[in-house]
Amino acid sequence: MYNLKELEAFVHKCNRCPLSRNRTNVVFGEGNPQADIMFIGEGPGYYEDKMGRPFVGRAGQLLDKMMNSIGLNRDEVYIANIVKCRPPNNRDPHDEECEKCLDFLRWQVKIVDPMIIVCLGVISARNIIDKNFRITQNRGIWYKKGKFNIIATYHPAALLRDESKKLDAWKDLKSIRSKYDELKADKNNLKG
Ligand code: SF4
Repeated sequence: MYNLKELEAFVHKCNRCPLSRNRTNVVFGEGNPQADIMFIGEGPGYYEDKMGRPFVGRAGQLLDKMMNSIGLNRDEVYIANIVKCRPPNNRDPHDEECEKCLDFLRWQVKIVDPMIIVCLGVISARNIIDKNFRITQNRGIWYKKGKFNIIATYHPAALLRDESKKLDAWKDLKSIRSKYDELKADKNNLKG
C-alpha cells in the first residue's frame, strides 16, 4: 500500500478528470498523517490552487479559528477535500469529477485512519454520508460508517456568507469535541 507521500506524488500527476486542465497546483491535503480527526471540504479555491494547500484563504482562516475554539490545531488534524483540483470560478464540482477523485480520498482516509471525519459543507456530506444529504436538516447528526464516526457541519465559506449559521456551527463544534474526547478516552483505556 502507498504511504501518504507516495500517494501525493501519484495524485500530483493526475489527469483523470477535466479539472486537471485549469489547475495551478493539485491540493492533495495536509496535516498529521496519524490524525484522529479529519476535516474534509469540497475543493480548492483561488488561494488554495495558487499555494497547493487546503483552506488557506478567508474560509481557511475561519476554519483555523473554528478548530482553535475547540482546542484543535492544524498540526493534530488532517485536512483534505473531495476534489483535489480547483473547479473553474469556484463552481461546485460535478458528480463525475467527485467520483473520479474520491478514490484518492478513500485512500487517504485508509492511510490516516481517523476516528472522526468532519464533512465541511453539503458537497462533502453528499459524497461521504448520503447523496441526498440536506445540510440545514442533517448537520450536527453523528453517522457511523464502518469504523468511522462522521458528522457534517457548515463549510466555513457558508458561515462567512451568512453569520446566522454560526450558532449551529458552534453546537456542531462542541459535539465534535465531546465525541473526540470520548473516543480518545476509549482508545487510551484499550491501550492501557
Ligand atoms: S480533481 Fe482529482 S481526479 Fe480530477 S484531475 Fe484533479 S486529482 Fe485528478
